[in-house]
Amino acid sequence: MEEKVKSELKKIFGFSQFRGNQEPIVDNLLSQKNTFVIMPTGAGKSLCYQLPAVVSDGTAIVISPLIALMKNQVDQLNAIGINAHFLNSTLNKSEATKVKNEVLSKKTKLLYVAPESLTKEENVTFLKSAHLSFVAIDEAHCISEWGHDFRPEYRKIKSIVAQIAPNLPIIALTATATPKVQQDIQRNLQMEEADLFKSSFNRTNLYYEVRPKLKNESKKQLIKFIKSHKGKSGIIYCLSRKKVEEIAQLLQVNQINAAPYHAGLESAVRIKNQDDFLNEELDVIVATIAFGMGIDKPDVRYVIHYDVPKSLEGYYQETGRAGRDGLEGHCLMFYKYEDIVKLDKFNKDKPVTERENARVLLQEMAAYAETGVCRRKFILNYFGETFEKDCGYCDNCKRDREIFEGMTYIQTALEAALQTNERFGLEHLVKVIIGEPTEYVTSYKHDQLPVFGKGKEVPEKYWTSIIRQAMIFDLLEKDIESFGVLKLTPKGKEFIEAPYSVNLYKDHDYATEDPSSTPDVPITAGIAYDEKLFELLKAERKKVAKSKGLPPYV
Ligand code: ADP
Ligand code: MG
Ligand code: ZN
Repeated sequence: MEEKVKSELKKIFGFSQFRGNQEPIVDNLLSQKNTFVIMPTGAGKSLCYQLPAVVSDGTAIVISPLIALMKNQVDQLNAIGINAHFLNSTLNKSEATKVKNEVLSKKTKLLYVAPESLTKEENVTFLKSAHLSFVAIDEAHCISEWGHDFRPEYRKIKSIVAQIAPNLPIIALTATATPKVQQDIQRNLQMEEADLFKSSFNRTNLYYEVRPKLKNESKKQLIKFIKSHKGKSGIIYCLSRKKVEEIAQLLQVNQINAAPYHAGLESAVRIKNQDDFLNEELDVIVATIAFGMGIDKPDVRYVIHYDVPKSLEGYYQETGRAGRDGLEGHCLMFYKYEDIVKLDKFNKDKPVTERENARVLLQEMAAYAETGVCRRKFILNYFGETFEKDCGYCDNCKRDREIFEGMTYIQTALEAALQTNERFGLEHLVKVIIGEPTEYVTSYKHDQLPVFGKGKEVPEKYWTSIIRQAMIFDLLEKDIESFGVLKLTPKGKEFIEAPYSVNLYKDHDYATEDPSSTPDVPITAGIAYDEKLFELLKAERKKVAKSKGLPPYV
């Protein structure tokens, strides 16, 4: 990489080093190559296009899904002296004209554009006459119906960009790419040939924990948890505005310095609460998921889901807001299956496929909450990563788990997949094993399969859990090309040839689990909570912010 680029990193952005894959990504984009970036939340995706934009001739187009996010980024860039603008529906005609003139005069380095504005005829015409450097598509998972944030306009980006300038390099970035979503994005953008930079999703400093949600007990636990983190910042997520208000009040009457945040609040109040949280006037913000995208407060010490989220992707993104500074982050979720049922009911008027997609995401969420497997293993598997050992830093790893010998179960599961010619997904495979002749199963001549009904002594729920574990242990894998049917991996084929003993973990049965038996959170070397270091980092940040004329956490 040219020295100039590195020196701009320090000079403009104030960073002495690249993080993770940033350097090769910047290099790749600057060599005019299509670049696909998958990095967890907080890892520093923005820099991957901001720095190349600054050192390139012309203007980079940045497509971003949220108007608030755009404004936030443009403000930050302007504050450090970079000429950046946005083009979206909040601008009136003369403001839009002013922005366009800036771009045409070649002063603007980054132009943030909402997907809706990009598709407008007049803007296409304008962009055709501009001198452009590349196109960045942030939050690229919005392209996929299989993700959790689908935005139909995102699917039009590729054809518009092709009209504007067919040979411009494209960089697409996302934090939520399950293999399925990743494939969907690449196809839609015709970026199958792009260079892929995928970072590990493992956030080693986050502790994952799930507790059963019980009416009053959980509220007590919530208060106790927050009080034991006195003076530290935390986010509590709830699903509805009403619940947000209720919990915020509950905390306030318990002398906790908390305030609500949701889209139903007057915008002045909402902004004040957010600023107070960022500036440490408030310890706790109780919020719907409207809060957080693009918010960058490095010292959030815990994220609590008082209600279960709609997908594991959403969960991971929200918990990802804890411990961005690399120090302790505790991710606690209160869970009951009834919440999953409730969420599913909310979707009842949606089109069938949409409801089915949402249901699959919900079932994955429930499976995560109920699993006895190391939580990190479960999550990373969901994101297509294999994580061999137990992490030792989640509640499941910390408790005495019920283990059972799984060899024969796994054998049955793998046989079922083989005998149905690897054409069945999880749900139907389980039906075959328990011998339930659903319409789908009978259409495959189930009665001729030796494995049909072989596992009928064991409840359906257990089989579901066993097959999931076979996936986590890398014996079965989802074939994303064909609707997630389960196929044997090479390791699975070896297992069938020569089966061996495996430990399986029983799922939680929260109905009978003692809710007060939460394991102690271990302090592990390297991620120990260090009060002094924390204060130092905080002082450092304040100094940097001040020197740039920014409030401490913008
Ligand atoms: P993402 O979009 O991946 O969620 P951001 O781009 O918002 O993450 O960056 C998260 C935080 O990391 C920001 O505070 C940003 O300033 C900081 N950051 C990014 N790159 C670096 C770096 N090379 N060194 C130090 N901090 C960085
Ligand atoms: Mg981002
Ligand atoms: Zn673990």
